Amino acid sequence: MIGAVHVTVGAALGSILRDKTSAFAAGVASHVVTDSLPHRDYRAQVEAPLLAATLAGIAAWKGPDSPEFWGGVGAIVPDIEHVLNLIGLIDEDEKVFPTHINNGKYHGRKARCRWPQLLVTLGSVLIIALRR
Ligand SMILES: [Zn+2]
Repeated sequence: MIGAVHVTVGAALGSILRDKTSAFAAGVASHVVTDSLPHRDYRAQVEAPLLAATLAGIAAWKGPDSPEFWGGVGAIVPDIEHVLNLIGLIDEDEKVFPTHINNGKYHGRKARCRWPQLLVTLGSVLIIALRR
């Protein structure tokens, strides 16, 4: 799943839970669900700045000490093992997150379009905006 989508879903969970620790844990758990959905990722050169901008946007909007921010961080933490693999620190078969193992056996199929991901993102942003 696109990193920015993971972050906005995690942030929405944080806005509901209102507790940073619970938000972080729910964010990590949400990664399984969002990775399982059919989706289409971007190249790393697009993913990284989009992810950074989304996290910065959540921090600017709700604050870096908010449950929204920590839900977003929790939601993207599992993908650190992709980065570790890309820079050669771990092999593909050393990944441990359920949706990243077994050659993507539990990972969602590749979608033809990205609009469902946009809808998930917009729904998550709406939840964040409506919660105080
Ligand atoms: Zn993932």
